[in-house]
Order: sequence, then C-alpha cells, then structure tokens
Amino acid sequence: MGKVKKVMNRIAMFVVFLMVAVVINGCAFFKKEATVPPVGANWSYSGLTSPEHWHQLDAKNKLCDKGFQQSPIDIMERDVEETKKLKKMEINYHPSFFSLENNGHTIEANPVTSGNKILIDGTSYALQQFHFHIPSEHQFKGKAFDMEMHLVHKNQAGNLAVIAVFMTVSENDNEPFLELFQHLPIEETKKDVPMKYAIDLNSVLPLKKFAYRYPGSLTTPPCSEGVTWIIMKQPIFLSGEQLVEFRNIIHHNARPIQLRYWRRIFAEPGTKDMTVETPPTADGQSIDSSPSAAE
Ligand SMILES: [Zn+2]
Repeated sequence: MGKVKKVMNRIAMFVVFLMVAVVINGCAFFKKEATVPPVGANWSYSGLTSPEHWHQLDAKNKLCDKGFQQSPIDIMERDVEETKKLKKMEINYHPSFFSLENNGHTIEANPVTSGNKILIDGTSYALQQFHFHIPSEHQFKGKAFDMEMHLVHKNQAGNLAVIAVFMTVSENDNEPFLELFQHLPIEETKKDVPMKYAIDLNSVLPLKKFAYRYPGSLTTPPCSEGVTWIIMKQPIFLSGEQLVEFRNIIHHNARPIQLRYWRRIFAEPGTKDMTVETPPTADGQSIDSSPSAAE
C-alpha cells in the first residue's frame, strides 16, 4: 500500500511540475508575441521602441518605415560617381562657445552664438548643433567606425545639410574635445550645461575634406527626408578613454543601415583613390596604412 501511495505522490508532483512549466512557458510565449510598442512610448534603440518600431510609435514617423531616401547608408565605393561638377563645399567655422545637452538619445553641443556656416552649391547653411553616435551610423565598405559626429546645418528655407565625420579610437585624446568629453552630462538635461572653453570646429574636422554626398533623411524619428548628407572620407581620432566616457552614458545610438534604392552618391575626383587614414601612434607618427581592401 505504502509503495503505491509513494508512486502516486510522485506522479502527482510530476503533474504539478508539468503544469507549472506549461504556465511559465506560456508567459514566455506571450512575451515573445507582444510586438506592438506601448502607446505613447518614447523611441529608443532597443526593445519594443527600437528602430524597427519607430513607425508604430507615432503616425508622424511613417517615413521611418516607408521612405525611399532614408539614412544612414553603407558607402560602397563602386556606387560612388566622381564628378568635377560637384562644387566644393565651403566651410566657415570659427572658435565658438557651446552648451551641452543630454536629450536621452545623444549628447548634443548647441552653439551659444551663431556664425558657423557652410556653403553648398551657393546656398548658406548655418550650424544648428553637433552630436555623436556610437558606433557610427554610416558605414564604409560594410564596416562601421567606433563613433560618428553629425554637424547639423539649416538654410533659410529650412532644409538640412549634415556633415558626418567618422571617429576612430587612437592612443591620443582628441584635443579640441578635451573639455567636452570630460563634462558630458550624465543625466538627461533640462537646461543646457555651458562649456568654459571655445571650440574651433576647423581643428576638429579632418585635414583632407574629401566627402561623399547623397540625399537622405534624419536618422532619428520622424526620419524626415530632404537632408543633404556630406560624409567625410577621412576619420578623426579620439582616445579609448574618451569613447568610454561617452559609451557609459549613451551606450548605443546607431540606426541600422537603410537601403540606397536608386539614389546616387557623388564625390569630387580623387576621393576614391584616397586611403582611409589610420590612427596616429602616441608619438604622433601615422601607422603605415595598408592599401584599401578591394570591394
Ligand atoms: Zn545624428
């Protein structure tokens, strides 16, 4: 009798165990099925508010899903058309004061005074702000860089032109950005944090300003199109410590690569032949760069 009871007890326990397992799995199953983001949720780079859901968060974001001129893209040099017709971009930057903002998506530097401008095809665009992405949003021949800086400009008609600069980790600090990377606002800011020292953006940009140009969009909601993108071929450098300072706060804020469709990418003659510079060593010498890999 006792033995039969024991066996019955074991069977009962096994049944209970099975039922619990089914319930737990059921919940997990449910979680996987929930693919609609919560109403009114703010966009982000992960989970149910990640880039693949941006268009579901707000009707205004429909281009994030349906647009044909979206950014970022992968710059494949075989797609690039070099042309003498592309007028050189003029950059008129001068030392300026900025204040820092943490908007929860990136750290942005807003100019305290106006005056930084670029000239594209005879149209003047004024610098609105610059900010960073980690890792880079645009890619070059299928590869992302450690970070990417976006300098956002606007013309009088309200059209945007963004200069994108790739950033690569090097042994040295990025000197013009010393103060900026030491004082990145950790929490979301309600009020901008003014910087003490002026930044001369001329000293931030790469010396060789060969760039790719293509029509694209904002890389954040509402993914508005009609943005002129200017992607500098040469990267700039920052130290591993500076990158960590940024990553500790922002973690990851890069939208995935978008399809190019029929868009054309232009560059001035000589751009494709240029080798992408590698980081200088601590003594200032440039590491011997290998010829660029065949596509
Ligand atoms: Zn950006």
